[in-house]
Amino acid sequence: MTDSDRLVIAVDGPSGSGKSSVCRAAATRLGAAYLDTGAMYRAATWYCLQQGIDLDDEDAVAVAVEEMPLKISTDAEHQVITVGQTDVTEAIRQPRISEAVSAVATNRKARSLLVAAQRRIIDEAGFIVAEGRDITTVVAPDAQVRVLLTASAEARLRRRGLQLAAESGAQQSEAALKKQVLERDTKDSAAANFTEAADGVAVLDSSELTFEETVDSLIGRVELARESASA
Ligand code: C5P
Repeated sequence: MTDSDRLVIAVDGPSGSGKSSVCRAAATRLGAAYLDTGAMYRAATWYCLQQGIDLDDEDAVAVAVEEMPLKISTDAEHQVITVGQTDVTEAIRQPRISEAVSAVATNRKARSLLVAAQRRIIDEAGFIVAEGRDITTVVAPDAQVRVLLTASAEARLRRRGLQLAAESGAQQSEAALKKQVLERDTKDSAAANFTEAADGVAVLDSSELTFEETVDSLIGRVELARESASA
């Protein structure tokens, strides 16, 4: 891949904004790689809990993140995340991980290790949709397409509820959903600002859009960036 073929699409957004499914679908249609950075924080949390590490022990968490044998695929259609020999693709979606992950995300040392790993993956792929909370601002601020994907709190709670019901077959109570979506956003805000778009970052509000319309809008921005790069 030459430098002129490089195209990085950075998408940030809060929990339940739909960014994972929107970014996966956009990457599939574009034939680009896909990186779910949230999955890396989740895998780190899974690993620390599995090792019996106290998540409030900042140094121990950072050491664990440094030695964690994490592998994450960048295939949008087939996401596999392993830690050592264990496939954690499904385990990292459990509510116990969602409720604990902010402790790892707000750990400064762990964050800088994960950010460095994310930059390496993005660099290696070259043409990639990368999503998270700080991709447009910290991980890849020089990305050609930078989007903040937002949605109203009501839309986000509804979507996350439907997603969890589809994944686990179980309905979550409203209180449990709020804990996983809104309370997590509040905790996460301490680590990254994803509620306001930074300079040069476009806001894509999906509250009133269908899934397909949201994907189309993201792809439209990628096409515009390609046109302006070749002009
Ligand atoms: O996107 P997802 O909800 O799977 O992210 C899980 C958690 O990982 C977030 O709640 C946040 O704490 C953390 N995260 C982060 N920075 C990113 C991506 C995710 O702090 N770039």
